[in-house]
Amino acid sequence: MFFLLLSGVFAGWQSFSVVVQETFFAGNDGSAIATIKAVTRNALPWNNRSMADNPDSNVETLEIPSTPNFLRDRIAEDVRTKKFGDAVVQTRFPPEPNGYLHIGHAKAICLDFGLADEFGGKTNLRFDDTNPEKEEQEYVDSIQKDVRWLGFDWEQLCYASDYFGQLYEWAIQLIHAGKAYVDDLSADEIRQYRGTLTEPGRDSPWRNRTVEENLDLFMRMKAGEFPDGSRVLRAKIDMASPNINMRDPIMYRIVHAEHHRTGNEWCIYPMYDYAHGQSDSIENVTHSMCTLEFADHQPLYRWFVEQLGIFPSQQIEFDRLNLTYTLLSKRKLLQLVQEGRVNGWDDPRMPTLSGIRRRGFTPEGIRTFVASLGATRTNGIIDFEMLEHFQRDDLNKRATRGMAVLRPLKLVIDNYPEGQTEYVEVANNPEDSMAGTRQVPFSRELYIEREDFREVPPPKYYRLSPGKEVRLRNAYFVVAHSVAKDADGNVVEVHCTYDPASRGGNSPDGRKVKSTMHWVSAAHVISAEVRLYDKLFSNPNPQDVPDGGSFLDNVNPNSLEIVADAKLELSLAEAKVGAPYQFERVGYFCLDPDSTAEKLVFNRTLPLKDTWAKIEKKAGA
Ligand code: ATP
Ligand code: MG
Repeated sequence: MFFLLLSGVFAGWQSFSVVVQETFFAGNDGSAIATIKAVTRNALPWNNRSMADNPDSNVETLEIPSTPNFLRDRIAEDVRTKKFGDAVVQTRFPPEPNGYLHIGHAKAICLDFGLADEFGGKTNLRFDDTNPEKEEQEYVDSIQKDVRWLGFDWEQLCYASDYFGQLYEWAIQLIHAGKAYVDDLSADEIRQYRGTLTEPGRDSPWRNRTVEENLDLFMRMKAGEFPDGSRVLRAKIDMASPNINMRDPIMYRIVHAEHHRTGNEWCIYPMYDYAHGQSDSIENVTHSMCTLEFADHQPLYRWFVEQLGIFPSQQIEFDRLNLTYTLLSKRKLLQLVQEGRVNGWDDPRMPTLSGIRRRGFTPEGIRTFVASLGATRTNGIIDFEMLEHFQRDDLNKRATRGMAVLRPLKLVIDNYPEGQTEYVEVANNPEDSMAGTRQVPFSRELYIEREDFREVPPPKYYRLSPGKEVRLRNAYFVVAHSVAKDADGNVVEVHCTYDPASRGGNSPDGRKVKSTMHWVSAAHVISAEVRLYDKLFSNPNPQDVPDGGSFLDNVNPNSLEIVADAKLELSLAEAKVGAPYQFERVGYFCLDPDSTAEKLVFNRTLPLKDTWAKIEKKAGA
């Protein structure tokens, strides 16, 4: 069970309380995650990037946001104590190009780029491309696009593969120093020799080869003399170490595969643990921030740096973002794509940055959300509602309003002159006086939302029903009188009368109505397909499945509903891909790139909060 308490929201600052009741969920790697019990956070968005623009900024004069963020405190302390001498704060964002970025990466991006900005530092985008079999140019391109979309730009675009030559030389150096050896054990044997958490490992029979033999074999590995999997290069550390990462970790493996950048130049590839820290060091990264699952790798990260005597980048681990109803693992997201459970990486139901962009989420809303999370040393689970809250907040400020009827029902105003059209003036965005107004046509025949009329109204139903008076937004009061039905008894038309004195939406005699409804003039509409999205998974923890089950069993079969023929106000024919719209009373929407001149397609970004649904639910209807 999760619930979210929203407390005071005031001028630019937001004070947030998140309370997650005690529950245990499995992390992406299957490990248990301790949940946050109660955290209060004060959010200040990183949207204000003025500090980055000020080259003279220094830590003493920085205005530091108040969200608890131990990474910020650590960096501030390192700057104060000159831990890295006069080196500027330097970070990197190091994605592996084996899939599209997701909302979890947005947290890492905002921390890497955002904190470097705050301290007047720099950030590289570095592709950790050490795994030729899984990596593709398509992913490299999408990652750059997504980082830019979030509002960040890198100092240098780097690739771990740029360092393959240097990494190889350093491996030779470690062999010379007796700190690395070629092992002929198979992958299975290496696993058996490694031991367990409670048992030490055993030395490989090949561990004490001479330096000359190791050099010869490693060079021949590089020259392509041996098949995949036949040999590896290992660091010679300690097979009895309590930290399994230190039990002679593999540095290089043989993979005869074409690399997306180096082609067939290499047939040995460095492992993540060997490549990552050394790449940081080559780039003079001061603060190498990554998620908590790498904490056990830090001793190895430092070991390589010490043995090689190179620039000592500091790894610091922070809490991974986990969201309810959401999977944040490229491997599993790839599975959803490959098995056709979604329509590609940018399906608007996907938690990928390309998916939520297409869905209509804004980068500003994401940055503010991430800023509100801060950074800690304990993994938790954030309610998806919280991400949605920051989106609604941002969309409300910038969305252009329009009227659209998703499930149209004809409303005929019997006492309105036939053939007449008048125009009512409507604000384009009541939250933004600069957005101006537009003229919306009104006539005798309108469409209203089917759910806004009930022939037999239930209790507390204040919308249109026979004899009931309601307001048509920005236009007139109307009273319903009669209905026309088809052969099956379905209401196909509602007849009403209007009060000409109520133009603009108020009656001179001060009569009150309880409901205001949106409408479009039947003769002045465009038709559009509207795609309504719901959560991709029906379980708050998509990985919560019985033995033998799969997260795919939790895919919500009703996550996409297509409304084929919605009726939209004409102004929405001008909608642009990438711009936010609010269909009044219905939700936030955006134009989908599938749209053509003949057929517009809109995505629902998020519904507005629907109090009626809550009342009905409470009543058990
Ligand atoms: P995935 O499991 O989705 O493949 P990953 O950690 O393998 O993620 P990388 O491409 O290696 O993906 O990640 C690049 C950076 O993003 C790393 O520093 C990683 O720690 C960080 N990162 C990945 N997922 C999250 C997350 N959910 N929350 C915060 N940071 C994340
Ligand atoms: Mg990874």
